Amino acid sequence: MKYIVKVNKERCKGCKLCIEVCPQGIFKISNKFNKIGYHYIEIIDGKNCIGCKRCVIICPDVSIELYKKEEEKMKLKIGVIPDCFRLPIKDGIKKAAELGLDGIQPYATTGELDPKNLSKTGRDDFKHFVKSLNLEISAIVGDFGGHGFADPKTVEWRIERTKEVIDLAFDLGVKIVTTHIGVVPEDENDIAWKTMEQSLPEVGTYAYNKGIVLATETGPEPAIILKKLLDKLNNPGLKVNYDPANLVMVSGDDPVKGVYTLANYIVHTHAKDGIKLPDENGKKRWKELPLGQGNVNWPEYLKAMKEIGYNGFFTIEREVGEKPELDIIHARDFLRGLEKEIWIK
Ligand code: SF4
Ligand code: SF4
Repeated sequence: MKYIVKVNKERCKGCKLCIEVCPQGIFKISNKFNKIGYHYIEIIDGKNCIGCKRCVIICPDVSIELYKKEEEKMKLKIGVIPDCFRLPIKDGIKKAAELGLDGIQPYATTGELDPKNLSKTGRDDFKHFVKSLNLEISAIVGDFGGHGFADPKTVEWRIERTKEVIDLAFDLGVKIVTTHIGVVPEDENDIAWKTMEQSLPEVGTYAYNKGIVLATETGPEPAIILKKLLDKLNNPGLKVNYDPANLVMVSGDDPVKGVYTLANYIVHTHAKDGIKLPDENGKKRWKELPLGQGNVNWPEYLKAMKEIGYNGFFTIEREVGEKPELDIIHARDFLRGLEKEIWIK
């Protein structure tokens, strides 16, 4: 089998055009209904596919994906923060599976996935639930908000809570916990810098000893400042969750250049877009936008990620907007388009 054909049954409207054009008789209509009420397409036997692409071209609902077998391994891994669907967590995860995504990065700081609320059996059940949907947990979010590890008043509490999330990651078999460590100041004598310098090695080492890394999200400061801190700490458990939109929106940094600056630290990334707005009364302002509509140069950004050898997830995050599901579908299709153009070449 040289080609792999996949049909997203939840997008299919059962028009049967693919059946008509396929010279190899690969497709048949199912007698079952999908969630939007259509008999969807099933694959009879994909091994006879000759890769002519007729099905992909004719499908009006962009429901068919075709890969060369060797390309399948190189596919862009696309995930989502399931909380972005603004549904109960398990419904958000089911939605991710329905949309044909590869993984999820759920919040584990409150609600059902707060480690305090999840027993050992609950953790096993959750792990099996995600696996049964053919999804991977690319990372879990262990961000408790506030000023991160820069605030001396809350840092002890934060260290303990973060360790609980790291323990949860261990039980779930997840290798990355993401967080915001706070705004890294330029001045190494600043109290925020000193607090981070004292606290982060403890959680970094705790994570590393369990085979996990704690990845801080980019954005509040330019990439070069974050690198300065990480280089100084030199702790194998401290890495980066790269968010190109945050760099554009908050620090006004160049996210393509930042990839090379932080290349040795990037273990996870968010797919998000936006623009920086003029400051108002000394306050930073920005606007998050659907993928491709902001100032992240996606083709160049993906080329840079590919060049540094990144092979992890691109996790869609959509924090605003009235219709998160539609924005997430748009983001998925936008990334799949670039996958063919830039990633698999
Ligand atoms: S690529 Fe061609 S042979 Fe393969 S499933 Fe599509 S139409 Fe059929
Ligand atoms: S062409 Fe697309 S929408 Fe129509 S039946 Fe085939 S997969 Fe479904």
